[in-house]
Amino acid sequence: MDRSGPPLLSVEDLITEFHTADGVVHAVDGVSYELWPGETLAVVGESGSGKSVTAMSILGLVQQPPGRIVGGRVMFEGRDLLRLSRREMRAVRGRSIAMIFQDPMTSLNPVLTVGFQITEAILAHDTDRGKAEERAIALLSTVGVPNAKERFSQYPHQYSGGMRQRALIAMAIANGPRLLIADEPTTALDVTIQAQVFETLKLAQQETQAAMILITHDLGLVAEMADRVAVMYAGRVVETAGVRELFHAPRHPYTVGLMRSLPRLDNRSGHLMPIPGSPPSLIQPPPGCPFHPRCASYAGRSRCHTERPALRQVEPNHASACHFAEDLARKVPT
Ligand code: SF4
Repeated sequence: MDRSGPPLLSVEDLITEFHTADGVVHAVDGVSYELWPGETLAVVGESGSGKSVTAMSILGLVQQPPGRIVGGRVMFEGRDLLRLSRREMRAVRGRSIAMIFQDPMTSLNPVLTVGFQITEAILAHDTDRGKAEERAIALLSTVGVPNAKERFSQYPHQYSGGMRQRALIAMAIANGPRLLIADEPTTALDVTIQAQVFETLKLAQQETQAAMILITHDLGLVAEMADRVAVMYAGRVVETAGVRELFHAPRHPYTVGLMRSLPRLDNRSGHLMPIPGSPPSLIQPPPGCPFHPRCASYAGRSRCHTERPALRQVEPNHASACHFAEDLARKVPT
């Protein structure tokens, strides 16, 4: 990871809304984060926290309407991606930024062979079909698909779920992207296969030296994979820190809640402590801190329900959007 130069990606105050019959859904509400070359940033939070919509906004894949990006900048290699034409954005996707989605079956075309699809991804930026096919076979081999030459000519339904996800990883790294975005890449897979696919993802990242945004609701994975973490809640980043700092001393009650709801080997009672309540409405979020109705540290403090906490630095390499982040400066066992 190289932090000596400027960040590879800088998301600045991004705001994405969806206009629905019930009102405006504030899906991404002023999100900022940065990513340096070769770094892995885990974006963590419950469903509906805005993790995936932020990624779709970065890639220009928010369906408009009903979606609309109404504010912010997404600086990537010196250009604001939000200002690119569709053609320019298509060139960025696939070559410079590649996405790995949750469900490989929806990302692979069932009537085309896997090899053909990887070859086409290469040919979108190259012209020699023979060389592209050779490279596709080599890529399948790199991501651990056995008998890559034979597998090249098979259809997605002839692959297992784990193999399909490996094929998608091969497609994602085909053009040597600078940034990989993986959105819950193993959610659709058996637990036994998940670890193998993450291993493949790590190898693919090493192969390409790409930075990665790993979107997950699973904090357990984060320690394994990430350098830094951004925790999202109700469309905002509520905490960001190096992975060690976050696990050692979380500075937002929501992060503390996520950690306490993790299964632990030394938990003799066997009881997990889920965060009470459910995520707030994104049409009419609660006033003040959007987490206050569920917050174990709220204790009726008026500032929590009158003033929206800004994300502020509380320690080097550690920011929190809690008015009372300093009160949480104790070690939370993980
Ligand atoms: Fe809890 Fe208040 Fe901090 Fe929000 S600002 S997380 S309600 S203590």
